Amino acid sequence: MVGEQTDTCVDAGTGAPVVILLGPPGAGKGTQARRLEEGHGLVQLSTGDMLRAAVAAGTPAGLAAKSVMEAGGLVSDEIVLAILSDRMAQPDVAAGVILDGFPRTAGQAAALDDMLAAAGQCVGAAISLEVDDEAMIARVAGRFTCGRCGEGYHDQFKQTRQEGVCDKCGGTEFKRRADDNAETARERLKAYHDQTAPLIAHYESMGVLQRVDAMASIEEVAGALGQLVSALSAH
Ligand code: ADP
Repeated sequence: MVGEQTDTCVDAGTGAPVVILLGPPGAGKGTQARRLEEGHGLVQLSTGDMLRAAVAAGTPAGLAAKSVMEAGGLVSDEIVLAILSDRMAQPDVAAGVILDGFPRTAGQAAALDDMLAAAGQCVGAAISLEVDDEAMIARVAGRFTCGRCGEGYHDQFKQTRQEGVCDKCGGTEFKRRADDNAETARERLKAYHDQTAPLIAHYESMGVLQRVDAMASIEEVAGALGQLVSALSAH
């Protein structure tokens, strides 16, 4: 773990906000990150999406990550940090970022703190999406997304209004992730509790932790997160 956050970091009004979404698989990080992107002009950075793109493209990082992801484990810090820091170097992140699925280990959190400090930035808020484990398995096991626009759906909890047609873009192709089954979801949940949940204390000690009840509806959670991010931008 890294040292205490300085005062200048807490109110980095000049810097673009850096918002971290913490939470187990199925907590709604991706859904909520997309909402924040639309509503607040922040850029969603999902290490899961970046890794899936690397797997699909067959890059060396993707080849190394594939079997770990399929087993529900965590990809090495080295690979994840290389992918994330490349992405953070691109100009569009100047608008501010929502980190979705990163950091996931103490090593990644320390590296992020260092990366931001080097750029005169800091974590504005780390938001923990608090949920019930068993409900998460059910959520993850039934979810799918629109292949065109990425909108998320669920077999039971959020069906498309018209069967087979995306509510948002009218797309008719849908995707299910290879790791979205009950067995792998249990492994991912275990990885979360073992390696990622301890980061909650790290961000609490930095004074940037916010907890949100993520068992509430998507709209309610989006409202709570929107308020937190607006308060941040108002600084
Ligand atoms: P989830 O819904 O489980 O949070 P993600 O799309 O964020 O899913 O991640 C899917 C998988 O990609 C993880 O189970 C893990 O194998 C890998 N992964 C994503 N982000 C990281 C990270 N920061 N560190 C290590 N592995 C990661």
